[in-house]
Amino acid sequence: MTTLSGAAARATATDREIAAAEAHSAHNYHPLPVVVASAEGAWVTDVEGRRYLDMLAGYSALNFGHGNPRLIAAAKAQLDRVTLTSRAFHHDRFARFCTELAELCGMETVLPMNTGAEAVETAVKTARKWGYQVKGVPDGKAKIVVAAGNFHGRTTTIVSFSTDPEARADFGPYTPGFTVVPYGDLAALEAAVDEFTVAVLLEPIQGEAGVLVPPDGYLAGVRRVTAERGVLFVADEIQSGLGRTGTTFACEHEGVVPDMYVLGKALGGGVVPVSAVVSSRAVLGVFRPGEHGSTFGGNPLACAVGLEVLAMLRTGEYQERATTLGARLHAELRELLGDGTGPLTAVRGRGLWAGIDVAPSLGTGRALSERLLTRGLLVKDTHGSTLRLAPPLVITEEDLDWGLARLRSVLSS
Ligand SMILES: *Cc1c(COP(=O)(O)O)cnc(C)c1O
Repeated sequence: MTTLSGAAARATATDREIAAAEAHSAHNYHPLPVVVASAEGAWVTDVEGRRYLDMLAGYSALNFGHGNPRLIAAAKAQLDRVTLTSRAFHHDRFARFCTELAELCGMETVLPMNTGAEAVETAVKTARKWGYQVKGVPDGKAKIVVAAGNFHGRTTTIVSFSTDPEARADFGPYTPGFTVVPYGDLAALEAAVDEFTVAVLLEPIQGEAGVLVPPDGYLAGVRRVTAERGVLFVADEIQSGLGRTGTTFACEHEGVVPDMYVLGKALGGGVVPVSAVVSSRAVLGVFRPGEHGSTFGGNPLACAVGLEVLAMLRTGEYQERATTLGARLHAELRELLGDGTGPLTAVRGRGLWAGIDVAPSLGTGRALSERLLTRGLLVKDTHGSTLRLAPPLVITEEDLDWGLARLRSVLSS
């Protein structure tokens, strides 16, 4: 006869779910020990009924919060009509989605995909083809300038130009055609541009790197250099865009309009994966039928949810919330930074988005995230002792204050 060991007898629903996940899924993530069962707005509830304030918001995929009623209604209505046609046929949400997204970007042409990485791949393919067909770069020579510390996704080509050993090691052979320059260094970028350069691909604020804001004037400088040298400026606004920083696009903070936006995450409203590349007809016009595509890209459900996201962004309400709540967030974080003797050693960010470096004596970012979890706060560490804060833009002032009070108390203990 067997008896349950003490540990098994005490196992909670959380422990059981985590053990099963570890047994049957690849370990390509190291999630915090919380098992979410439901969520609403800025709050999630776990399998044991505990509530947590979500200060990560799916890396900005949940800018409009969990279960946003407008987005859920749009999705439900579309579920009853048609969900997938493939691009073999037209469907009646497609044209409106492309038109309205182009309008929001102040551009002409949209190429919808699903995930962020696919949109970045699409941008790379577009820039290369444009380089050969329009700029006249000799075949096979096209070069794209990227920044150190970048995060653009996980495909084999994208990790080829990552500078993060974890993201890159053992996935070679690597795709050639990329030149890495230090982020924020305009002179280095300008020096790297040559006659074979077809594009500069950058995050206007580097999210995964720890919410790194480049020096003032950098994006405007990149715009000037790329325009002068006949190179496409491709802005990966997958995480920085769609309201997070207080403007629709982070590039707006420097009055910059790139040649191409790469969008994702919040474009799907936290409901379905929706991504897109948006540019001019002259640039995206390089594609002919059969040269690029995706079975699910631009599907009716994605377009219906995306259209509601666009309608919400047009009100300006979410950008405004990111500005005012962001000021509140950053004021509190600056206090925690203090005169350099406080628990934080650096605070960065813009709008409702912050990267904070925690004094190493307080433990690793991971250990802090786990402590914050026990206090009802979902936060994710990145790179050692850096934490990223990006609550949904629908968070209330009271909830934000509650979260920041919790953060302060954990950092001060
Ligand atoms: C998340 C992210 C991506 C990749 O998006 P996926 O949907 O995970 O493929 C690319 N670029 C940036 C800036 C991101 O934040």
